[in-house]
Order: sequence, then C-alpha cells, then structure tokens
Amino acid sequence: MAMIMTSTLPISDRYRVKTSQLDMPPRLLLGPGPANVHPRVLATMSNPPVGHLDPTFLALMDEVRDLLRYTWQTANELTVAVSGTGSAAMEATLANVVEPEDVVLVGVKGYFGDRLVNMATRYGGDVRKITKTWGEAFTLEEIQQAIETHRPKVLALVHAETSTGVRQPLEGVAELCQKYDCLLLVDTVTSMGGVPLYIDQWGIDLAYSCSQKGIGCPPGASPFTMSPRAVAKLNSRSKPVTNWYLDMSLLTKYWGQDRVYHHTAPINMNYGLREALRLIAEEGLEQRWQRHQKNAELLWEGLADLKLECHVSQEIRLPTLTTVRIPEGVNGKAVSSQLLNDYNIEIAGGLGELGGKVWRIGLMGYNSRPENVLLLLTALEKVLAQH
Ligand SMILES: *Cc1c(COP(=O)(O)O)cnc(C)c1O
Repeated sequence: MAMIMTSTLPISDRYRVKTSQLDMPPRLLLGPGPANVHPRVLATMSNPPVGHLDPTFLALMDEVRDLLRYTWQTANELTVAVSGTGSAAMEATLANVVEPEDVVLVGVKGYFGDRLVNMATRYGGDVRKITKTWGEAFTLEEIQQAIETHRPKVLALVHAETSTGVRQPLEGVAELCQKYDCLLLVDTVTSMGGVPLYIDQWGIDLAYSCSQKGIGCPPGASPFTMSPRAVAKLNSRSKPVTNWYLDMSLLTKYWGQDRVYHHTAPINMNYGLREALRLIAEEGLEQRWQRHQKNAELLWEGLADLKLECHVSQEIRLPTLTTVRIPEGVNGKAVSSQLLNDYNIEIAGGLGELGGKVWRIGLMGYNSRPENVLLLLTALEKVLAQH
C-alpha cells in the first residue's frame, strides 16, 4: 500500500487567484509582428504532443527541414528550426561562427543591425560597423570599401530592416565575401516567405528568420541555416561554442541522423511551423512574393490618397513592412491606440532614430490580403479625421 504523504505545512491561498477562461481579443495584427496566422496553422497546433524522439516527430522534423530548404531556396544540410524566437536564431548564427578576436563587420542601418553588434560583441568578436541613415540601404561600393578596410571574417547584414522598412539589396555581396574569404551572414526575419530571397544563389552562408512574420505561425520556432563554408568554420573552432543551447555541433546530432537528445523540442510549435511552411509550398514561393508586393502597392496607393508619405524610396521599400511618416501636429501614439481600441487593429510606432516619426505597418504572410489593406485604410482615415 502506498503511503499518502500528508504535509504538516499550511497551504497558502495567496496566489490562488480567481481567473476566467482565456478570451483574447480578435486583433488584426498589422504591426511589425507577430502577424495573424492561418486557421489551419492554429488547428494543426492543437494536435496532441508526442515525444521529441517519437518516430512520427522525427519524420515531421525531416519535413520541416525540407520545407525550410524550399522556402529559403537552399540545399544546405544544416537547416533547422531553433527552439526560440528570431533572436535565438540570430544569436545562434553568431555564437557558432564568431571566435574571440574575429573581425565581424556589421552593416547598421536600423535597430536590428545594432542588436547584431551587441550579440557579436558578447561572443568576443572584434566588431566593426558601418552605418547608414535609418531609411536607406548600403550600396555595393560602400560594402566593398568596408570589407577592404576591415578584412572581416564575418559580414553581417539585415536583408529586411523591420525598424525602417528598408530592403538591403544583396546582389554582388557574396562575390566580394568569397574574394576576401569572409562569411556572409544575413538577417532574413522580415523577408523570408514574403520577399524574394535565394540563399544559395546569393551565396549567403548563415541566415536566420522567425516563425511569426512572413511565415505566418505563432512565435517560437525559428529557421536557421548554415552553408558548408560556415560549417567548416564551426568545425575548425579551437574552443567549443560558448552557448550550449545554441551549439550546432550538438543540435545537428538531434536534427541529423544520430537523433541524440539535446533539449526537448517545442513539439506543437513545430507542428505549427510545418503547417505554415506547407501553406507556402502550396501557394508557391513566387506567387507568394507577388501577393506581398501587390498588397503592399495597394496600401501605398491608399496612403498616398490620404496624403500620407512613405519614409523609404520605392526601389528599396519592403512589401512586408511599410514605414509611414506621421504628419506634423499629429500624435502618432494616440492614433495607433485609437486604431487598437476602436477597431482592433494593431500598427506600431517607430524605434530608435525613427521614434515618434513614423508608423510601421506590416502586411506579412496570411495578413497580406486586400481586405486587410482596405480595412486599415478606412479606419485610419476615420481616426485621422479626429486628430
Ligand atoms: C523581429 C526581428 C528580429 C527578432 O526576432 P524575435 O522573434 O522578436 O526574437 C530580428 N531581426 C529582425 C529584422 C526582426 O524584424
């Protein structure tokens, strides 16, 4: 007979608060992310969790890898979903290839470039940066000059700067990196699944993304890939990766053939990611990129009709995220609060240099639809008339 343990300690009811069942408002998330997700993704996530070494889950991981390869247009063997948000995958790129004293050159033209600088510094990199006004992109000449000056081991660029709405052109950058024997690391968080992007053709060695922006899944499982050139640098490290959780030499034993336990994968997040990636494959990458472009253009036309000005010139403007200048005399925060409170629509304000100067409007993944554009424009017109 099992003994029933009776504690002599009194039970405190202090934190036993009365709560009601969760009932979140139906927001339309047109900010910089997270974005709304397709109902099929949410439905898939409610499948019962299985074990992280269950054969059905291992098969699912293989499918996730293949679907990531398609979405990124890469054949990289080392392609996985990092457990965590985009910042975890971002940190994984630097943690694995940056060794103390390595020169890391970062192109900073917005908030996320600064985050790369911060992280690379923590891993002991000798970090150099080139900067650009928030709202502009680097030219190939500027990148070439910086590479020749600093001779970096790693060049890090943000393809889609969510803080400014700028698309950094990447054509020609890989040739420079190969010529000067430098790895090309690219943040594709706000481009993957929404903006033309070819990891292999563009010679990108390390890339990361997140699940909650262009891919259209809740946040928590983040795409990560490394080219054979980047894997060679990882394999030649003199000391192990200082971050245990993100060490790809350990993680690939779980994602690869060995199937060795490393940490418990977020099972249901991977269900969701798989479904979101399936939706991308069903639609077709090119069609999806075109859809994002078309709906962004519809938004830009509507904003112009409201006499609102986009902050970024059209050739380098992202279809996934638009920065709109807040007109003189208008309280930007009051407008976005009213959109949220009266219409359940979320848009965001500016960060850093653009704080108080712009609104940020996202049309990402499932949310990139004409009816969302028209709803936002109608609500914005009504709210602006009152300000
Ligand atoms: C959102 C974002 C990140 C960080 O991703 P989280 O999921 O918020 O951790 C990194 N880079 C860019 C460009 C982003 O937009």
